[in-house]
Amino acid sequence: MEDYQNEYIRKLGSRIEALSAAQTALNRENAEAGISAQRIAHTLRGSGRTYGFPKISELAEAVEEASHDQLKSRLADLINYLRSLSEAGRGSCEVIMVVDDSEEIRFILSTILEKQGYHVLLAETATAARELLKQEDVSLIILDLILPDTDGRNFLVELKESYTTNSIPVVVLSAKSSPQVKAECYALGADNYFEKPVDPGLLSTHVAATINSARKVHREAQLDSLTGLMNRAGFNEHYQNSQNLAQQGDSKLSLGLLDLDHFKSINDRYGHLAGDEVLKHITEVMKQLLRDSDIVARWGGEEFTILFPDSDAASAKKTIDKVLDHLNNNAYILHSSKEKLRITFSAGVVDVDHNLPLKAAFSVADQLMYKAKESGRNQVLTEHEKVIPRQRSILLAEDDDLTAEFIIHRLERAGFKTSHYLHGDEAFESASNNPYDLVITDVKMPGMDGFELLQRIRKQSLNQNTPIIMLTSMGRENDIARGLQLGANDYMLKPFSPTELLARVHRLLK
Ligand code: GH3
Ligand code: MG
Ligand code: MG
Repeated sequence: MEDYQNEYIRKLGSRIEALSAAQTALNRENAEAGISAQRIAHTLRGSGRTYGFPKISELAEAVEEASHDQLKSRLADLINYLRSLSEAGRGSCEVIMVVDDSEEIRFILSTILEKQGYHVLLAETATAARELLKQEDVSLIILDLILPDTDGRNFLVELKESYTTNSIPVVVLSAKSSPQVKAECYALGADNYFEKPVDPGLLSTHVAATINSARKVHREAQLDSLTGLMNRAGFNEHYQNSQNLAQQGDSKLSLGLLDLDHFKSINDRYGHLAGDEVLKHITEVMKQLLRDSDIVARWGGEEFTILFPDSDAASAKKTIDKVLDHLNNNAYILHSSKEKLRITFSAGVVDVDHNLPLKAAFSVADQLMYKAKESGRNQVLTEHEKVIPRQRSILLAEDDDLTAEFIIHRLERAGFKTSHYLHGDEAFESASNNPYDLVITDVKMPGMDGFELLQRIRKQSLNQNTPIIMLTSMGRENDIARGLQLGANDYMLKPFSPTELLARVHRLLK
């Protein structure tokens, strides 16, 4: 592409911004915005062909002449085309701004830096630099101290105080060589200081190193050190980008929020390192089961957020359900102690409207996640579902058929799913492989009795934290004390009223 064409493409940035702003306003049915978009389109229609981009003129003309109904889609076509040109033109090229009033220095530096593959912006004054910073995403600034409109040190302070520019590295280039000025510049936030005349090779090496380390710092500041996932800061940035892309392509976007269930008890029982191990494990499972384009972040503690491009909440829910199913069907075995753990989470998923700020989307997802916790955990909710409490499953170990039948009848009528075993051994086998919401066990059973079953469940099964009710006969009150000592949460004396049993089951499941 010719130089003047590159220059034209580079300057498209502010037009694209203005058109996108008009597009957003138009989506809110602001009629003024249509006129504004057509006015910008008119200028593009003229300039596009002049600079050798007839397609710009063609698409701009279509916008200019669009009826009310056609406007939104034609405007989207124009913006998409301009963006694709602008991105292709820029490539991954870093932008460096040279602020210096000497024409000679500007010429020398731009020649050296452009040879290194940088795109160079030139400003003669601080005022010109301020304007360029509004339009361009600058990676590094080379700053002279003596400027026509201000002392470079004042401009340095201004750069470091503004939220939008304070992370841009600044290299000072000056004829002032007193150590005091140098020290002052470093104190004000300069990354480097060179005296004029500068050795071009040395300067460009420093520029490359500074840009690389700034890039690295930026990347690292966005990562969570434990899981290697993005952290909240990184996620915030991706949210913006994903939302812009969804808006341009008129595609869907959804957000999921996951919170591990009863995570504190894993820390309490096995220690903080085991908790960390679990956080890493769930990260791996998500990486395996999500698409590469899905964006996962550790929001904090045991909470994760996921952005699903091209997906509405319903299909994102299906994906999160896959992760949850995997966890439910595959116990996790701790490296250190070889303990088998059942890891589950509760999640909320929302559709992200093109203009919805992250805070608002997050708040709705958070409410859904809490609803999922309240109605039984281990589930994923979207806004469109009625909350149907998950069916709870109860393990019953009872060798007396009649008693068992009578309990099962009552529990199933109340909506529970029961798995019944006549022997302690079989019940334990099942508790080792299936997560239950509650266990009810008789004391006297052939083979493994209720005490042993209780002890083993508490020590080595997926149901270590599951509430357990012991059933024992009138007259054997000593059993109660022993059962409670071994970790039972409650007991019932036979014969008992089914209503009372149900009340206790409900209380323990709350
Ligand atoms: P709920 O099902 O209601 O979410 O219960 P919970 O126990 O998961 O939730 P709670 O918020 O009570 O506890 C979260 C725990 O996560 C408390 C905190 O110590 C632990 N945690 C937070 N960050 C880390 C971490 O980096 N490593 C480990 N091991 N634990 C963490
Ligand atoms: Mg939490
Ligand atoms: Mg939790």
